[in-house]
Amino acid sequence: MPEHVMPRAFHIMAKPTGSACNLNCDYCFFLKKEGLYPGSNFRMADDVHEAYIRQLFEAHQVPQVTVAWQGGEPTLMGLDFFRRSIDLQKKYQKPGTRVENTFQTNGILINDEWCEFFRDNNFLIGLSMDGPKELHDFYRKDKGGNGTFDKVMKAARLLQKHKVEFNILCTVNSKNADYPLDVYRFFRDELKANYIQFIPIVERAESSPSPSPSPDRGEGNNTPLLSGEGNVSAPPSRGEDVSNYSPPSLKTPTLVRGGDEGEGVVTDRSVRPEQWGRFLSDIFDEWVKRDVGKTFILNFDGALAGWLGMAGTVCIFGQTCGEGTALEHNGDLYSCDHFVGPNNLLGNILQTPMIELVASAKQRKFGQDKRDTLPQYCLKCEFVHICNGECPKNRLIKTPDGEAGLNYLCEGYKAFFKHADKPMHIMATLLQQGRLAEEIMRLKELKVRGGENRKEEPGRNEPCFCGSGQKFKKCHGK
Ligand code: SF4
Ligand code: SF4
Repeated sequence: MPEHVMPRAFHIMAKPTGSACNLNCDYCFFLKKEGLYPGSNFRMADDVHEAYIRQLFEAHQVPQVTVAWQGGEPTLMGLDFFRRSIDLQKKYQKPGTRVENTFQTNGILINDEWCEFFRDNNFLIGLSMDGPKELHDFYRKDKGGNGTFDKVMKAARLLQKHKVEFNILCTVNSKNADYPLDVYRFFRDELKANYIQFIPIVERAESSPSPSPSPDRGEGNNTPLLSGEGNVSAPPSRGEDVSNYSPPSLKTPTLVRGGDEGEGVVTDRSVRPEQWGRFLSDIFDEWVKRDVGKTFILNFDGALAGWLGMAGTVCIFGQTCGEGTALEHNGDLYSCDHFVGPNNLLGNILQTPMIELVASAKQRKFGQDKRDTLPQYCLKCEFVHICNGECPKNRLIKTPDGEAGLNYLCEGYKAFFKHADKPMHIMATLLQQGRLAEEIMRLKELKVRGGENRKEEPGRNEPCFCGSGQKFKKCHGK
């Protein structure tokens, strides 16, 4: 492998318990992946563990290394596994390298001992929650069918008590998508979370055909959209069959049908495109008025990067992908956590160094296919530089012209991008001027006529404060 194609840094999401989890998640793709390793005990063995840490540290040529733990549910490995991991990290850490451990959990097993360990070793925790109790418990149930909200809240309080930093990962499904502000305000006001990621549930129906634009993909059945949601639990049927979904206009993309069976592309647990657009827009409106710079919402940060001409700070909006691989408990490395299956197996790190697998032609092709299979409809879209067709996992429908490979969530994304366009543009301008994006909140206040802030307004013919270069009367003074 020529030296120049070896990345100086890369991301591996390690799944020490494979897909094993202590919740019972009907739609959880990780549980369904258990079939990949029949008879396995789903525990990362010592030699795989050591190879992972050693190769990760040896391959990184940058001052920071992230060790990412994901599930299934990683706490099922027990604390001693992670204590050993810290020892291994110390053993292989290069001088001057900073190490960060990230850890995605459903919170069920978190106790004081875990929290002390997380705090002492500076772990960044991702906690899976779907909103306030009635929304969280609607889908997130244990193996006995009981809601898990109280246990997860207890975990959140313990993490806070021990001053362990944690983020919220919230899956958005057909149930909680109708309550965007209840969900957002719960995280912001009750949990005091200042970093939130919303993951749309797009769960392909079992019998739908693979619409994958790339023949090398195709293991994406039943997977949510973004990384990090391995602990999502099971949404029951909401009784609304997406196969009966009717596009609101002829110009709206149509769902690909599952052949003669007439099955829908996604299950009725999945968030519907228009719901997703409204969910993002409603939260955005509240966030942009009062929370910019205080509450970080990955979805908005990732989109804002597009307005700055830097799309790709989150993989779903990048032009290409392929920089985040998934390591199974037995050392198998896959192209992405959402494409864990035989077609996207890169190799095993016990046989081939992970850096070679990460830099392989197969993985590069996986990443470039995202760009190369974009339908014409996307290429002509006014928001393509922000969206880039989003995650290939969700490219499940046909364009109005009948071309395959359009994103199932397209309608929602378009609605959100249109809705957020002006404020996003203002924030991007502020940042390009070396100012802070949160200044937009003062600009928003100034829009409220007659208020005490009015005195801060520029004169009608003076330049607008947003930095557009236009007169105030033609811009925010309209
Ligand atoms: S397929 Fe690409 S865009 Fe989708 S989650 Fe994986 S790396 Fe990200
Ligand atoms: S908004 Fe829709 S048409 Fe535009 S790039 Fe995204 S998926 Fe494609």
